[in-house]
Amino acid sequence: MIFEPLFKQLIESTNDIVLLCDTTPFEEGGPRIVYVNPAFEEVMGYKAEEVIGQSPRILNGSGTDRQARYRIRKALRQGKPVRTELMKYSKDGRGVWMDVNILPLRDEAGHIKCFASIERDLTRYKKMERQLAQMALFDDLTGSLSRAAFYQQAEKEFPRTRRYHRPLSTLMIDIDHFKRVNDAYGHAAGDHVLMIFAEAVQEIIRSTDFIGRVGGEEFAILMPDTTLTAACHLAERIRERVNKYPYLAKDRLIEITASLGVAELQAADQDFKALLKRADDALYSAKQAGRNRVMQAA
Ligand code: GH3
Ligand code: MG
Ligand code: MG
Repeated sequence: MIFEPLFKQLIESTNDIVLLCDTTPFEEGGPRIVYVNPAFEEVMGYKAEEVIGQSPRILNGSGTDRQARYRIRKALRQGKPVRTELMKYSKDGRGVWMDVNILPLRDEAGHIKCFASIERDLTRYKKMERQLAQMALFDDLTGSLSRAAFYQQAEKEFPRTRRYHRPLSTLMIDIDHFKRVNDAYGHAAGDHVLMIFAEAVQEIIRSTDFIGRVGGEEFAILMPDTTLTAACHLAERIRERVNKYPYLAKDRLIEITASLGVAELQAADQDFKALLKRADDALYSAKQAGRNRVMQAA
């Protein structure tokens, strides 16, 4: 067969791990490793002779997901292929995220002769995935939660508040005539103002409150355990602070004001969005009434 030397070459030169196991039953400590390719040696740090005859379980560790292991065992028992992501451990104890593909290989009569596992190192992608998740969580410019993350947090807070019959209030803040700031000083100066604005607000809110950037120059604050009266009081402090904070751009002091809408969760609110909607309506009233003011929801 001309294919044989070519297949050998393929398996020995690929960056993917190829690992073959025999069909020794679990009850007898099997399956056992019968072959590993050079990529395995390279990634996992073991020499082939150190692992041949051993159970592939020696590559597991504390971070190896039990459910994924269970799925693998089940598939092996049933003679079915299985694919999963799994943390494995190299000889020096380093965790390596793997995309694991296990295939039963059968002879002509249909009997399983061995299990082949083809594995790819996902460590780099997993790291990227974490970074992306982190990026999506926070807004780069202001360090506030992103809109999506804010909504997610709020959705989580909602049932907790209901269960324990606690008050919950929310605040919507929008900078007044922000377009003028951009027009007069440029977009970069506008960005700078936004950054300092968020800083000013963050200094006032409690550590249990959270703030999200829900629009370009629009922020929402969720305040657990806070009544409407307390929330309005805080809103007023924010309004005053925002107005007095020194915003410097191109050595010029920029004066800004903000409008705020406040609402408290009511028994009839079906979800967090209903609460946010009332705060948003109150914010709109604040704008209509002349800006630089706090309005509470009806
Ligand atoms: P008002 O809210 O008082 O009605 O007036 P406004 O001018 O603030 O309202 P509008 O919502 O119409 O405009 C918001 C402006 O904010 C428009 C946009 O250029 C600016 N903006 C939004 N996001 C950013 C950003 O990330 N950086 C900067 N520099 N400007 C932004
Ligand atoms: Mg605005
Ligand atoms: Mg706006």
